Amino acid sequence: MAEIERETMEYDVVIVGAGPAGLSAAIRLKQLDADLEVVVLEKGSEVGAHILSGAVLDPCGLDALIPDWKEKGAPLNVAVEEDNFYMLGEAGEVRIPNFPMPPLMNNHGNYIVSMGNVCRWMAEQAEELGVEIFPGMACSELVYGDKGEVKGVVAGVFGLEADGSYGPNTEPGMELHGKYVFLSEGVRGSLSKEVIAKYDLQAGKDVQKYGVGMKEIWEIDPAKHKQGTVTHTMGWPLNSNAGGGSFIYHLDNNQVYVGFVVHLNYKNPHLYPYMEFQRFKHHPMVAELLEGGKRVAYGARAITEGGYQSMPKLTFPGGALLGCSAGMVNVPRIKGNHNAMLSGKAAAEAAFDMIKAETTDQELTAYEDEVRNGMIGKDLKKVRNVKPMWSKWGMLPSLALGGLDMWTNTLFGLSLFGTLKHGKNDAESTEEASKHKEIDYPKPDGKLSFDRLTNVSFAATNHEESQPCHLRLADPNLPIATNLPKFAEPAQRYCPAGVYEVVEKDGQPEFVVNFQNCVHCKTCDIKDPSQNITWTTPQGGDGPNYPNM
Ligand SMILES: Cc1cc2nc3c(=O)[nH]c(=O)nc-3n(C[C@H](O)[C@H](O)[C@H](O)COP(=O)(O)OP(=O)(O)OC[C@H]3O[C@@H](n4cnc5c(N)ncnc54)[C@H](O)[C@@H]3O)c2cc1C
Repeated sequence: MAEIERETMEYDVVIVGAGPAGLSAAIRLKQLDADLEVVVLEKGSEVGAHILSGAVLDPCGLDALIPDWKEKGAPLNVAVEEDNFYMLGEAGEVRIPNFPMPPLMNNHGNYIVSMGNVCRWMAEQAEELGVEIFPGMACSELVYGDKGEVKGVVAGVFGLEADGSYGPNTEPGMELHGKYVFLSEGVRGSLSKEVIAKYDLQAGKDVQKYGVGMKEIWEIDPAKHKQGTVTHTMGWPLNSNAGGGSFIYHLDNNQVYVGFVVHLNYKNPHLYPYMEFQRFKHHPMVAELLEGGKRVAYGARAITEGGYQSMPKLTFPGGALLGCSAGMVNVPRIKGNHNAMLSGKAAAEAAFDMIKAETTDQELTAYEDEVRNGMIGKDLKKVRNVKPMWSKWGMLPSLALGGLDMWTNTLFGLSLFGTLKHGKNDAESTEEASKHKEIDYPKPDGKLSFDRLTNVSFAATNHEESQPCHLRLADPNLPIATNLPKFAEPAQRYCPAGVYEVVEKDGQPEFVVNFQNCVHCKTCDIKDPSQNITWTTPQGGDGPNYPNM
């Protein structure tokens, strides 16, 4: 094939992803020096289109970045007023009082927000400072320099033929080069995965762990709506099958975020995380709240859960991993947005120093030091044993011991357990189907619970059909030859968007990939037991269009 010719643009810093991490880096760079050339590339059709969090936002990141965010009109309008935590059984619930919880679990001082709207507002702040933001521009490749460093990205490839070749309507995109390239793609970023492997950034660290989070926005009866109320639950319907839990956040305008997270280290390949979420809404406490209301949006996204011990080395020649590209979620708090913002700020400060000193051939070690020893490291270190305890000992012992561990870490800065290891990665945790029972899920009633494809239409996801499938199978025969007999092909169930199906064709099973349904959650890339699926980015502008998530 003839060499592809692309236009090249030069910047000081190229930032991949307009989430809280990437936008914070862009804002901080321009605060430090208005003359720096900074570009942010976002695969969503607009900033915020692919953003999905709960979200209760701890404002400490924003306080550090834009201390006058209130005066500047940041959309943090709903302060948390009430914080509830329940253990659910099938027919009832027990409220766990707040007083035994360590202070870090307290949500007072936090805000219930649409993170999509927060990102849209942050993009406005960045643009006012002179940052160039290009939405609808997916970064599909890394560009390497002569010394093996990352020197840029390829973005804006459109109109490939279905087999991946160039056709009459193909736009080859452009190369954007930077003195530093920041990868702020969020959880399981496709370019981040490449650099972690290429530079062996996970060496000496624990494995990364994940959950899949699904979320609906509901408009509910105003009589039941209690603005500012935060509710978390654990227990039913997951019980011993899998770890996870729910969140219910009352924002304004009678809207409620209802979400459910399933930890992806579950063993039983028959488990169907999406149906667990639907079943959860039939719990009497939840059903009572939602009855008479309507679901107005749906989305899903993986969440990093490995925490402190799983963060890879954060820098590589030519750039750095920011936010959840490296996994900065505080799992018991279900919060990562504040750390994403703080990491963006820290990476920007380190890059600014290097650019000023004209030493950009060196790695951003000051960034790594700040993340591990500054506010982010302190936040994550205190809770580092909660997730491994849960994986090893189950929900109830880990609640008690995890609580004790968070207290000793908070009060004395030490843990009686040291730093526990996570064990297997999530793909390896899946056991053979023959060892487990199938699970009989009730049919959705169309009022509180919905079938998966109907719900996916509420994510407004869209992919140009003529392009190559962005979900690449290393071996196209493996799903039927290996995964089906061994694991009952769990892709049919773990995908919250119904992308993967096993259908019968001419009396034989056939694996079908409906990539048009993909909501970019990345669960398949994480959970496929054979690690046969690689999520790559489709062309820019494709994917979900979340309104107010
Ligand atoms: C269900 C759920 C509930 C959560 N609840 C909360 C909560 O209540 N509070 C909280 O603080 N945190 C919460 N989190 C965690 C929070 O969402 C993350 O910590 C946070 O999103 C990390 O920010 P980020 O900027 O690193 O990545 P993201 O927010 O994921 O942003 C990454 C951006 O990069 C873009 N992108 C990715 N790859 C490319 C590419 N190759 N080219 C161009 N663009 C690209 C994406 O489209 C996206 O816009 C929750 C997560 C989930 C899944």
